[in-house]
Amino acid sequence: MAARLLDGVAVASQIRAEVAPGVEAFRARAGRPPGLGIVLVGEDPASQIYVRGKLKSAGEAGLRTDLETLPDSATLTDLLTAVDRLNRSDVHDGILVQSPLPGAMGADAERRVFDAIRPDKDVDGFHPVNVGRLVQNRAHLVACTPSGVIELLTRSQIPIAGARAVVIGRSDIVGKPMALLLLHRHATVTICHSRTPDLATVAAEADILVAAIGRPGFVTPDFVKPGATVVDVGISSLSDRVTVERLFPAGSKRRETFERRGSVTVGDVHPLVADVAGALTPVPGGVGPLTIAMLLKNTLTAAVERAGWAGGVGA
Ligand code: NAP
Repeated sequence: MAARLLDGVAVASQIRAEVAPGVEAFRARAGRPPGLGIVLVGEDPASQIYVRGKLKSAGEAGLRTDLETLPDSATLTDLLTAVDRLNRSDVHDGILVQSPLPGAMGADAERRVFDAIRPDKDVDGFHPVNVGRLVQNRAHLVACTPSGVIELLTRSQIPIAGARAVVIGRSDIVGKPMALLLLHRHATVTICHSRTPDLATVAAEADILVAAIGRPGFVTPDFVKPGATVVDVGISSLSDRVTVERLFPAGSKRRETFERRGSVTVGDVHPLVADVAGALTPVPGGVGPLTIAMLLKNTLTAAVERAGWAGGVGA
C-alpha cells in the first residue's frame, strides 16, 4: 500500500487565503493592519530560518511585522524588557519569542518569558491562561503546530471523533496541546513518551498516530497499524551520512538532496511507513507550513478580539 500524502502546503495556502480578507477588513475598520512583534535572541541558524519564514508569510498576508533581535549575550532582563515594550504597544496584537533561548539565560527562561507575554497577545498559545483555556476547551489562541495538525486532518477528511489516537511526545508546545485538541474532537487519546514501555505496540493501536519526538526515522513500520493516519511533526536536519544512508536508499530524491546540500530535513517517521500507513504527512511539506499559517490566523484573532469586535471584523 502507498499512503496518501496529506499536503500541508496546499492546506496552509487555503488557510492563508481565508485569513487575507479578514486582515483587509481589519485594516479598513481599524485604520492599521494587525501587528506581529517577533523577538529573536542569538544566532541559532535554524531559528533565523524559522523567523525569516514567519516574517515573509506575515508580510505577504498584509500583517505589520517588527523583528527585534537581541545578541547572544542578552540577559533575561533584556528579553523581558523587549516583551514588556510589545505588551504595551498599541500596534502589536501578537507577540512571538522564538525558541530556543540561549542556554545562558537559564533553565526556566522560556517559561518566564511565556508567563510575561500578555495572554491576549499570546499568538503561540503558550501562556498558562491560554493553556488552561485549552484544557477547558474554550481557548481562542492555541499553539500553532497542533492546531495546524487538526486543520490538516479535518480538511483532509480524516475522521477524528471515535478514533484511537496516539501522540508520541509530551512537550508543552506540541505533544500535550495536540493530545487535548484530539480529545476535544472526541478521539480516545494515549500520550506516550520516553518512559513508555513497549511503545511500538501502543502506537500500533492508533488510527491516528502523531509523532512529535525529534528523532529522525524513529517511527518504523512496526509502530503503525495498516491503514492508519500518521502525522510526522518532527523536523531534524541530518548531516550524518550513515543515518541518511540507513533511511534513504541510493537514487532516492532525499538521498540526492543530501548529496547536493550535505544535509537533509527529515521527520520522526521512517520512510518505509509509507508502505503501511493509509495517509501520511511528508517532511518537509506536511506540518511545517501549517504552523506558520496558524500563526497568521492567531494574529488576526488576537487583533480582532483586542479591538473588542467579538463577532469578527465585519460585526
Ligand atoms: P521536545 O520538547 O524535545 O519533546 C520531545 C518529546 O519526545 C518528549 O516528550 C520526549 O519524552 C519524547 N521522546 C524523546 N525521545 C523519545 C523516545 N526515545 N521514545 C519516546 N518518546 C521520546 O520536542 P518538541 O518541542 O515537542 O518537538 C518535537 C519535534 O517536533 C522536534 O523535531 C521539533 O523540531 C518538531 N517541531 C516541529 C514543528 C513544526 O512546525 N513542524 C513545530 C514544533 C516542533 P520525555 O518527555 O519523556 O523526555
